[in-house]
Amino acid sequence: MSNLVERVLIIGLGLIGGSLAKALREQGCCGTVVGYDRDRDEMLAGLQLGVIDQVAENLAAEVEQANLIVLAVPVKATEEVLSQIKPYLSIETVLTDVGSTKGNVVEAARRVFGEIPDTFVPGHPIAGSEKSGVAAANSQLFNGYKVIITPLPESSASATRIVEQMWLQTGAIVLDMGVARHDEVLAATSHLPHILAFSLVDTLAKEEEKLDIFRYAAGGFRDFTRIAASDPTMWRDVCLANKEPLLKQLDSFTQGLAQLREAIEQGDSEMMLGTFTRAKAAREHFSRILSGTAYLDNMNTSNVVFRAQPGGSVTGTIRVPGDKSISHRSIMLGSLAEGVTEVTGFLEGEDALATLQAFRDMGVVIEGPHQGEVRIHGVGLHGLQAPPGPLYVGNSGTTIRLLSGLLAAQSFDTELSGDESLSKRPMERVAKPLRLMGAEIETGEGGRPPLKIKGGQSLQGIHYDMPMASAQVKSCLMLAGLYAEGTTSVTEPAPTRDHTERMLTGFGYSVGVDESTVSVQSGGKLTATNIDVPADISSATFFLVAAAITPDSDLTLEHVGINPTRVGVLNILRLMGADLELLNEREVGGEPVADIRIRYAPLKGIRVPEDQVPLAIDEFPALFVAACCAEGETVITGAEELRVKESDRIQVMVDGLKAVGADIEGTPDGAIIRGGQLTGGEVFAHGDHRIAMSFSIAALRSSGEIKINDCANVATSFPTFVDLANEVGLTIHKGEA
Ligand code: NAP
Repeated sequence: MSNLVERVLIIGLGLIGGSLAKALREQGCCGTVVGYDRDRDEMLAGLQLGVIDQVAENLAAEVEQANLIVLAVPVKATEEVLSQIKPYLSIETVLTDVGSTKGNVVEAARRVFGEIPDTFVPGHPIAGSEKSGVAAANSQLFNGYKVIITPLPESSASATRIVEQMWLQTGAIVLDMGVARHDEVLAATSHLPHILAFSLVDTLAKEEEKLDIFRYAAGGFRDFTRIAASDPTMWRDVCLANKEPLLKQLDSFTQGLAQLREAIEQGDSEMMLGTFTRAKAAREHFSRILSGTAYLDNMNTSNVVFRAQPGGSVTGTIRVPGDKSISHRSIMLGSLAEGVTEVTGFLEGEDALATLQAFRDMGVVIEGPHQGEVRIHGVGLHGLQAPPGPLYVGNSGTTIRLLSGLLAAQSFDTELSGDESLSKRPMERVAKPLRLMGAEIETGEGGRPPLKIKGGQSLQGIHYDMPMASAQVKSCLMLAGLYAEGTTSVTEPAPTRDHTERMLTGFGYSVGVDESTVSVQSGGKLTATNIDVPADISSATFFLVAAAITPDSDLTLEHVGINPTRVGVLNILRLMGADLELLNEREVGGEPVADIRIRYAPLKGIRVPEDQVPLAIDEFPALFVAACCAEGETVITGAEELRVKESDRIQVMVDGLKAVGADIEGTPDGAIIRGGQLTGGEVFAHGDHRIAMSFSIAALRSSGEIKINDCANVATSFPTFVDLANEVGLTIHKGEA
């Protein structure tokens, strides 16, 4: 590889300068690495320790020869060093620095140069230690850590590239940012914590019994105060250099601390719990948000493979995870209710957690989730507070669309944003009708997120004929309708899921339902209730089909949601001859639930009634498997929507089932399947969780193993699937290809 530059000069051979020199030298990417320090002993030590190739005996001559110069001196010394090197600096030499603050470094450069050279690109490695001096140099110091470069309007693209490449060579992750933003971000994330650590240790050290205090100090004290051992001079300089942003952060922290003090004095346990739960949740979410992987953990993981073994039977009693739609709504309505709502069976998936975090950001105290239990301290319909920044909802379409209706009616402005994939989804379908109600909403480019919602608008009730059937649009308008003057009604062209209507009723809010039209009036209130989230019938389906196709099976699935808009799978299986019994039917938070007992009975092929298709749309991959194990022919029509799900579910199932010996033909809107013996083989789930789980149960009736590739996403939608399957009698081994 050719060198990035022929000669690099590092001025200031301390911890950072020494570590950078050593890393560049080890990578062999910068020709000769020359070190300069005002302390000659440091330079000689650097040479002896193998940190640099050469010492700079004559600074002026070295500056003239260098292609790249890195200032690694204390920020305070920047101006002096720049003045020193200016007369010898060639117009081609790239110049950068490592200072912990950037605004004052740029000001210093302006004072020295007048016009900033286009070769100057400031930078700041977000890595370090409490040690200083060249003896502490460590070539791995930056490996895996972030480096922020702050190119200026004057900086040339080629100089920026060289500085970026230099840091990449050390193993760092390079980000770029504006100078002012850098100083604000660092004031909050680095400077404030250092000040707090110094102040805490100093305060405690003044106490009379300081020896005892330090002797008994527990891990928390040690963790929190580790950074108080940092270099005092450097931190004095940082405080001087970044005064304004730091003062802003200190003021807001002081205010938060005063509120907490007051809560402790008053014994206000709600306030304390609120602060601590918000902080705990934010701490857990932050690291992922910062790393840019928030809510996307399982998307790009390696090839998870399931190996489902042939045969077995399915017996026992299990409960599958909670319904996602109902988990979302339990948080929303629990937050808007008066009183404390206890939720059990909450689905702790990324999407529902995004809703939970959004309400926390709007000041709602939410405890948990802990093993599916959540306690929501409702603030009432008018108790939400302005969030500190944009509400980030990850990949959750339900959250963004439902919240937009609710937020359109609040007194404060909000912005809703999501991850890359959510940012491609259409939002005008909610924004348009909300505008008709008087909302002020701006969508991003092409009618997509982010959504900017202006607070303080008074909404008017409307009647809306939905152009397409969508439970999200309907729910969004109903939530806005809770605040709009008069009546808000929505007519749907085809039945959609009615979880919002049902749960509103469960919270004591009156909802009008007249055939295909639902309506709400403002002026009511929601009263807290307890919700045991029904198990998701779509997750239950894999086990229903497993028991239905396997001789000697007898399985009970507990507390399954049997909302009439979701029970297509039960109706279809019954038509095929399955032995299904609904036990203990009851209502929870407005939703009907039951325990479902299913025993083996021979299935027969049917023509699936088209009116059942929308009620079972997510269940078809598993139903394809049921049809392969039924006697005779099953014909599925009117299911073209399957082609635009997480995968083309018709094609992927046809390919996979053929590969394991089934007699199946795909059609544009369904399939024709003739039952028979499955042989086993290798299939591909194409990252579609429902396909992966469907082939897992197919092995119950195959003569050989079924190897299923691309199963990583099962962990997102149904993390306990493999364990539950193995518990009831399947044999699935999970591994990596
Ligand atoms: P350090 O270990 O104390 O090294 C600084 C070196 O610069 C010392 O050898 C010092 O010499 C020398 N120096 C001071 N004034 C000079 C001058 N006028 N001309 C030439 N050399 C001079 O400090 P460091 O931790 O490496 O910090 C260096 C820079 O990195 C600072 O700007 C700091 O903000 C930034 N930074 C530090 C960290 C961290 O965690 N330490 C992290 C990120 C960025 P003397 O010993 O004789 O003073």
